[in-house]
Amino acid sequence: MATTVAERKLLVGGDWIETGDWLEVRSPYSGDVVGRAAKAGARETARAIDAAEEAMREPLPAHRRAEILVKVAGALGRRHDDVARLICDEAGKPMKAARVEAKRAMSTFTFAAVEARKLAGEMVPMDAAQAGEGKLAFTLRLPRGIVGAISPFNFPCNLVAHKLAPALAAGCATVLKPASATPLSALLLAELMADAGLPPGWLNVVVGSASEIGDVLVDDDRVAALTFTGSGDVGWKLKERAPRKHVALELGNATPVIVCADAPPDTAATLAPNSFSYAGQSCISVQRIYVADEMWDEFVAEFVPRVEALVVGDPADEETDVGPVIDDDARERILAWIAESDGDVLAGGEADGAGLIRPTVIANPSPDAKVSCEEVFGPVVTLTCTRSLDEAIELANSTRYGLQAGIFTRDLSSALRAARELEFGGVTVNEAPTFRADQMPYGGVKASGNTREGPAYAVRELTEQRVVVIQL
Ligand code: NAP
Repeated sequence: MATTVAERKLLVGGDWIETGDWLEVRSPYSGDVVGRAAKAGARETARAIDAAEEAMREPLPAHRRAEILVKVAGALGRRHDDVARLICDEAGKPMKAARVEAKRAMSTFTFAAVEARKLAGEMVPMDAAQAGEGKLAFTLRLPRGIVGAISPFNFPCNLVAHKLAPALAAGCATVLKPASATPLSALLLAELMADAGLPPGWLNVVVGSASEIGDVLVDDDRVAALTFTGSGDVGWKLKERAPRKHVALELGNATPVIVCADAPPDTAATLAPNSFSYAGQSCISVQRIYVADEMWDEFVAEFVPRVEALVVGDPADEETDVGPVIDDDARERILAWIAESDGDVLAGGEADGAGLIRPTVIANPSPDAKVSCEEVFGPVVTLTCTRSLDEAIELANSTRYGLQAGIFTRDLSSALRAARELEFGGVTVNEAPTFRADQMPYGGVKASGNTREGPAYAVRELTEQRVVVIQL
């Protein structure tokens, strides 16, 4: 049952504005309205860009940016329960996971504050070439300009934090468009940033029609950088449409894990919750597990009961492990993908009375089935029996995606081989590839994106170097 009802205006140029039009935000679990957000269109987005331009005319020094970021981290700590409950209400994320997300957002702001204070160029060793003799050169790291940030529904607080905090650390003003399903956490973060002393225009939040707001962000030359987290279809199209902007994309995955014959004994226990946390709606939720044939019977016998023991139900209940998926369309698509997978359904496979999909385990699906190579983004995991590490690596790579992958083995050479040969932005060893610490360089290759987030890396993306050469 939803307990927080919020009504939120938009932040544009330091003012909280209404537009006369409201977007209702509903709980994916109960369907109840949990809040309303003022709805913006092209006009408010252009106004937000004007405000960002005006703000950047007076740069904020690094120490002030860092102080604001630290204050927001502190406020997130004090408001931890409110933040977690709002995430739970609007995203249907179980409280257990919502609390982790709220805590991680603190970490993201804290690391961004460190980066704001460290932001500096470098010396260029000019006399390393004859032409440079008698000259001194160094680089300045300058903000790229106004950032257009677009975020997805599944981490409505921390992935917004990964946009806003590095942009401020880099000295850029931002126009944020959060996901329409989950705009309330973003607007709460905006409130915390304003309360922390962020001057008008440095952050502007517009909620509303994706194409209308997206078109303005793409077409307005004053927006120097777009940072997008979401699905590949939308992301790559944005990049195509904005060839002269810096476009950073964080996209999906079909996350594989290799379980070798010498995997540690707690492997099934680690992987079971990591395949179903937030009903699989994380870009690095474990989706495809490739199990060595020597290990198959033992692994299946341990994994399936652990999946069946997960508590499925109301996300507001502190005991719940697996809640709803975001909406009916997602549920129908996921059930259709399970039905066409052509494997043995060992657990779940259907919706229960309340419309929740039971955590689903499919053994040996067809390699061409969507669950074997596309992103399910739901509570579904596949188990496939493999005869060698070669085969497991080949199957893990047989997807257009490349965000994170994992291997469980006690053999160092197998682990290092996987680290080299898995075509992914990150490889975890004896840890589920669902693992992410917010300071890590995080991002994908292939269809999964073209950038790295984590405040240190995002700040680099959002700044550019200018070289200064001085004749001595
Ligand atoms: P989505 O449908 O692509 O939406 C993401 C954002 O893009 C939303 O704010 C959406 O607005 C907006 N959008 C949609 N069409 C647009 C357009 N034409 N122009 C501008 N903006 C547009 O993705 P989602 O369903 O929210 O999120 C799930 C996806 O995100 C999955 O693929 C997941 O793997 C990926 N993801 C990746 C990472 C990562 O770090 N790599 C992290 C989390 C999620 P509306 O909500 O208004 O439609």
